[in-house]
Amino acid sequence: MSYHYQSVLEAIRSDVAPLRRAGSVANYIPELAKINPNKFGMHLRTINGQDYAVGNSGENFSIQSISKVFALAMVVSLIGEKIFERVGVEPSGSSFNSLVQLEYEKGIPRNPLINAGAMVVCDVLIEQLRKPKKEILEFVRLLANNKKIGYNERVAASEKTFGFRNAALANFLKSFNNIHNDVGDVLDLYFHICSIEMSCKDLATAFLLFANHGTVMTTSESILTKSQTKRLNALMQTCGFYDEAGEFSFTVGLPGKSGVGGGIVAVLPHRYAVATWGPRLNARGNSVMGMRALELLTTKLGSSIF
Ligand code: GLU
Repeated sequence: MSYHYQSVLEAIRSDVAPLRRAGSVANYIPELAKINPNKFGMHLRTINGQDYAVGNSGENFSIQSISKVFALAMVVSLIGEKIFERVGVEPSGSSFNSLVQLEYEKGIPRNPLINAGAMVVCDVLIEQLRKPKKEILEFVRLLANNKKIGYNERVAASEKTFGFRNAALANFLKSFNNIHNDVGDVLDLYFHICSIEMSCKDLATAFLLFANHGTVMTTSESILTKSQTKRLNALMQTCGFYDEAGEFSFTVGLPGKSGVGGGIVAVLPHRYAVATWGPRLNARGNSVMGMRALELLTTKLGSSIF
């Protein structure tokens, strides 16, 4: 069925415009606070390779926690389900950098999309790859079909300088033997993947992997099996939005992932991937405009997974 996606996106852009000043930019990583907060972009790419976009959709921003999905996809492609012996698959219901849950669950993070879980994933990538930073970047570039994607060293350094809580999490994991490598190396990789910069267009292109049974659209390369793709989509659905995953399911109804850089990317399996960017966040760390834009999208198209 052919939708008039472009006119739907244009309508959404004007519908969310009144929210332009709602929420605030993440400032706990000082380098992130430098962004112009009034940006808004949205890009939808269909499984047939058609692109629809509005606003600042071609502008790069810090993907932050969205990178956790790339790291997880890479780990699953390398070691399969074995990763789930070291990290769970349940929603945390807590904030992304919570320490308490780790204590009473003896160092097994609830899921791979919270910080502690992503650190375990990074630990495995260090074990599995000869040049983890380089190879992860190549993986993301392959998925997004864009060789220019890179790390922002200033953002990575800023997060390292102020990442006291993340350092606590990594050390805590190590005390439970759920980090095998040097804590500093794991944090360095974690901060770097968070600092990757991409546009809404890049993200929508890359996430088509999850709409397309784990096969890269542009090269037809199979990265994940159908079953692994199903599992990753399920994790995004239940764990992709910190302690607001229920709200995102409730209002949007798609698997997706957000980051404190203001990006959100979501997938309608077999149909499309869509990314939004609006730097101002709500109290739970999700983009105010992005959440609303995606709610409007699935409502206007009548196309959530439910
Ligand atoms: N690098 C950020 C942190 O670890 C990622 C947070 C996020 O996007 O949820 O604090």
